[in-house]
Amino acid sequence: MDKIAVVPGSFDPITNGHLDIIKRAADIFDIVYVAVMNNSSKNPLFNVDERMDLIARVTENMPNVKIDSSSGLLINYAKSKNANAIVRGLRAVSDFEYEMQITSMNRFLDKQIETFFIMTQNKYSFLSSSIVKEVSQYGGDIHDLVPAIVEEALIEKFKQKSIEK
Ligand code: ADP
Repeated sequence: MDKIAVVPGSFDPITNGHLDIIKRAADIFDIVYVAVMNNSSKNPLFNVDERMDLIARVTENMPNVKIDSSSGLLINYAKSKNANAIVRGLRAVSDFEYEMQITSMNRFLDKQIETFFIMTQNKYSFLSSSIVKEVSQYGGDIHDLVPAIVEEALIEKFKQKSIEK
């Protein structure tokens, strides 16, 4: 039976830190669904289709990675894909408390689906989508932090936004 994992997140936009977690999950699981969670409480820079498109382009060379989205409960999404596991990345102690809470809730909702954590590489431990957006917005160099097409998409997005103002 295939081992199936879901890597959920906002991915607004995908960074090299996310990509590293996805690659490492894809080395272990037979199928990895990267699920863009459409969380209404956040105000995203990229819409869901744009985020999915960027993820699809940077994971093109990973045949067992599939890109999807969901706006419901993660655990229901995972069940609908017959997933055995949810995979999350961990950066620092600050991630731990939040992840512990979500993991406990997901276990309460379904004991069959295990959550696995992959520890980030040191070089990505400070990296988040929000910091990348912040730096890019003010013209900072994010070259080593995101794939080239994500860097281009960010520059284009902020250009559009400044025209709209
Ligand atoms: P969420 O909004 O659920 O936190 P994110 O898109 O920020 O979603 O992140 C999705 C997943 O990727 C989470 O498990 C998060 O901890 C992980 N992640 C984000 N940035 C990094 C990074 N630099 N290194 C490792 N994991 C990361």
